[in-house]
Amino acid sequence: MAVSPVRIVIVGGGSAGWMCAAACAQVLHPERYRTTLIESDEIGTVGVGEATLPALRDFNEMLRLDESQFMRETQGTFKLGIEFRGWDRPGQSYVHPFGAFGQLWGGVEFQHFWLRARQQGLAPAPLEEYSCAVRACARNAFDFPDTRTVRSTFYGYAYHFDAGLYADFLRRWSVARGVTRIEGKVVDVALSERGDVDTLTLASGQRISGDFFIDCSGFRSLLVGEKLQVPWEDWSRWLPCDRAWAVPCERSPDFTPYTRSTAQCGGWTWRIPLQHRTGNGHVFSTRFISEDEARATLLGALDAPALGEPRLLKFRAGRRAQAWKRNCLALGLASGFLEPLESTSLFLIQKAIQDMLRLLPSPEARGVDERLVREFNRLSDALYERIRDFLILHYTANRRFGEPLWDHVRDYELPESLLHKLRLFDTRGHVPYFKDGFFSRDSWLAVLFGQGLMPQAYDRLADLLPSELLAQKMRELHARIAVHVADMPLHSEVIAQYCGEPARRLAVS
Ligand SMILES: Cc1cc2nc3c(=O)[nH]c(=O)nc-3n(C[C@H](O)[C@H](O)[C@H](O)COP(=O)(O)OP(=O)(O)OC[C@H]3O[C@@H](n4cnc5c(N)ncnc54)[C@H](O)[C@@H]3O)c2cc1C
Repeated sequence: MAVSPVRIVIVGGGSAGWMCAAACAQVLHPERYRTTLIESDEIGTVGVGEATLPALRDFNEMLRLDESQFMRETQGTFKLGIEFRGWDRPGQSYVHPFGAFGQLWGGVEFQHFWLRARQQGLAPAPLEEYSCAVRACARNAFDFPDTRTVRSTFYGYAYHFDAGLYADFLRRWSVARGVTRIEGKVVDVALSERGDVDTLTLASGQRISGDFFIDCSGFRSLLVGEKLQVPWEDWSRWLPCDRAWAVPCERSPDFTPYTRSTAQCGGWTWRIPLQHRTGNGHVFSTRFISEDEARATLLGALDAPALGEPRLLKFRAGRRAQAWKRNCLALGLASGFLEPLESTSLFLIQKAIQDMLRLLPSPEARGVDERLVREFNRLSDALYERIRDFLILHYTANRRFGEPLWDHVRDYELPESLLHKLRLFDTRGHVPYFKDGFFSRDSWLAVLFGQGLMPQAYDRLADLLPSELLAQKMRELHARIAVHVADMPLHSEVIAQYCGEPARRLAVS
């Protein structure tokens, strides 16, 4: 006997809502699942979120998007990492690249050989010079990793794009593939007798019933937060920034293949180059700087004329205690917020969608299995906590003495999970390795070393390589990377050529 399809109802049409709708349209069989998305033109979207992580390429490949068309439609550019200016101390900077430092030799991580070479006076180059991506950033160069050469093992890339254009693009894409879009404001949420979300009522009086609801309603968290009363876990004791000013400016000649993040006295400013403009913002804490001062700092930091007035956004760091409760899942800002220091929000959305698609009830299941819900929440909790620790590291390991925000974050009590990672690094230069989620070992190394931390010792296994061989291998690797990077075209040239070219379909493995 045919079973009726699962009715999926998504509330919210920001990046979270449309990423989720697109994934449902691509992955779920239309005879077994029907997807409806409700969005309110009156409420609008947050409309920021311009920097991403390399994992977004997997998402695009899942949708089988044509990369150059995607770049054209979203005014996208390439991103090899993030430059952190002044985060350790004023005047200093480092890059967190998407890619490795050096190579494994005999199964031993590169940083141990570098530390040994340093301790033994073999005068290695700075660690960052063993990263293809960092050296490409220094030249404003970009090239696609070539799987036939050593480059592919050294770096990956992500995108910068216009968040509004991205949501529009996914909206058109999803509606063309069968997602029903309803414009309207949800004014009432009714529960079934068992306490599941059952029916939504719009301001027009239209009622929409569903079997599975996805709350993408933004900071308000209409379903999971307001209706199902899932509490908010506040993390502002570690991440005190609670506001951002955002303003685009004209495109400037400094067309970087990376995001720039500059520490300021009450927070930090971002700079994201797009094809048609540069995105800028100032994330700050009202405990340490006023809104007016922060606005002036942002406008003073622009490297080209502003396009419009800065827009103020308010937020709190933290997350919902459960992202999935009963028949309702919170995605995006409805599930939590971590400041955009490492461009993690769209990644969190993407990862949650992928986990949801694995654990979503089938039409035959007639309801949600609590064990699967627990599994989803376990994965979500681990990811949020790992990213939180990584962000805290940027703040707490600073030497900006005498600046109230920076003194505060240097001295507060750290989560035990972060202390564990710091101890591991300090003892013998190791960093945690997680099979699932983020961030990778090389990312931790970039920020630990970048913030000026140095371990007391290195892995004993690195002593097995004879000194002359070590010095030779380091020299050769350094030279090989230099040759590869010298060959790369400028980022601006790649964009001009690639985004003007006829569409090329991405390889899907
Ligand atoms: C300052 C700042 C900078 C950021 N930078 C980055 C970045 O560089 N990279 C990154 O990955 N992320 C970034 N983010 C996060 C990113 O913007 C969000 O994660 C992403 O846009 C997802 O937002 P959302 O879809 O959850 O919410 P929103 O964009 O707020 O969308 C909410 C949707 O719900 C709808 N809605 C709400 N209430 C109702 C209702 N009652 N009825 C009907 N519809 C309703 C709204 O109309 C809207 O469509 C940043 C965030 C901020 C605040």
